[in-house]
Amino acid sequence: MSRAQTPPGGSGRGSASAPPECDIAIAGGGAAGFFAAVTAVERSPDASILLLEKSPELLAKVTISGGGRCNVTHAEFDPDRLAEHYPRGARELRGPLHRWQPGDTIDWFEARGVPLKTEADGRVFPTDDRAASITGCLLDQACQQGVHIHAQTGLRSATRTEEGFALTLSNGTHCRARRLLLATGGNAASSGYKIAANLGHTIEPPVPSLFTFHISDPRIDGLAGVSVEHARVRAAGLQQQGALLITHWGLSGPAILRLSAWGARRLHDLAYAFSLEIDWVPDTSEEEVRDRLAQQRQDHGAAQPARHPLFRLPARLWRKLLLHAGIYAKARWSGLRSEQAERLVAELKRGRFEVTGRSLNKEEFVTCGGVRLSEVDFRTMESRVCPGLFLAGELLDIDGVTGGFNLQAAWTTGRIAGEAMAAG
Ligand SMILES: Cc1cc2nc3c(=O)[nH]c(=O)nc-3n(C[C@H](O)[C@H](O)[C@H](O)COP(=O)(O)OP(=O)(O)OC[C@H]3O[C@@H](n4cnc5c(N)ncnc54)[C@H](O)[C@@H]3O)c2cc1C
Repeated sequence: MSRAQTPPGGSGRGSASAPPECDIAIAGGGAAGFFAAVTAVERSPDASILLLEKSPELLAKVTISGGGRCNVTHAEFDPDRLAEHYPRGARELRGPLHRWQPGDTIDWFEARGVPLKTEADGRVFPTDDRAASITGCLLDQACQQGVHIHAQTGLRSATRTEEGFALTLSNGTHCRARRLLLATGGNAASSGYKIAANLGHTIEPPVPSLFTFHISDPRIDGLAGVSVEHARVRAAGLQQQGALLITHWGLSGPAILRLSAWGARRLHDLAYAFSLEIDWVPDTSEEEVRDRLAQQRQDHGAAQPARHPLFRLPARLWRKLLLHAGIYAKARWSGLRSEQAERLVAELKRGRFEVTGRSLNKEEFVTCGGVRLSEVDFRTMESRVCPGLFLAGELLDIDGVTGGFNLQAAWTTGRIAGEAMAAG
């Protein structure tokens, strides 16, 4: 996986140390910061733009996103429907998504030589499946147009002045900027939250979103890798549907990840210890399941349930569910007692599992929480409490479900901030 790095000395029109003053300073060399920078320089080529990244690596998350393939966005082109994929920020993002949506993102990258493709589930990737195509494009655009990029140079603090902001950088130097964009991401350890708070913002406590569930239960024990195409999961008063994947530690898959996103705060408050109810056959009603079992007893009495999975469930999972309902391997349909049948119905329609913790979803994870949205003007991404300060990306209390929605939020908010800063 190639890394997007610049030497600590910086790149573009930059010199070894950051210039003493600039029109626009951007803290955070991630998706939102870069997209704001290239937008601002496109709109206002004469503006001096400084992009600060505290780590040695630029666009680090984009590089690892989508397992190194970078799921750039999602092929949902109706802004209102698109907004429904954000557990936090749906209402606020609606306007911005009308101005910069996945179709615009796709056109932007393709116009700059990065062809994209859409997979069957709507996720959009570079045709060559290389995140480096995206990072390379952003870096080229920024460098060619003269953005001063300084890696290994973090923003340590910012103070509002009459003309703009007085910045102190991690290398001890100082800089003045007329406008400042905070795009420092959702890392709770990042100084971005602290800087935003010092400038007057409220921070909704950051908690993880998009995680898998830790469950130790004989019904799924030893079944790692088994998946069910369509299940319904319920917990903490929420429910989601979709594919379920059994892992070594519990459960994952789109249904679980969506539940973790919509329930991020509630599940955090439960310390990730809660009951999960699974409907393994959501397209079949409880009554229909009951009838089907009765029919099996009647029509296939001599057959062994363990040998003939019903409802298109994977055979190994089916056998585990039978066992849990007290139906042993050699049992025959004819010998099924009604209480066993009822236990199987309950197992199939409302199996209860105890979640004891969460595991990292290595494919994609984001932060729920961040800068309070009512304090930001979403027409410009400018702060309502600190004029001249702009905010974009995961630093905000915005996060989406998995599938390209999080990067789209970064492109959209970065775009709008870049336009507004260039115009100001
Ligand atoms: C493993 C993984 C895979 C993912 N895959 C996808 C995917 O395929 N599709 C998708 O849509 N989303 C994906 N996401 C989520 C997506 O990557 C993020 O939501 C998005 O990158 C957020 O962009 P950002 O610019 O706001 O923040 P970031 O990308 O986190 O960038 C913020 C940058 O600011 C820097 N910084 C922090 N503090 C300072 C400071 N004080 N001064 C200067 N710099 C600072 C940080 O070092 C960082 O580089 C993935 C996330 C992870 C963790």
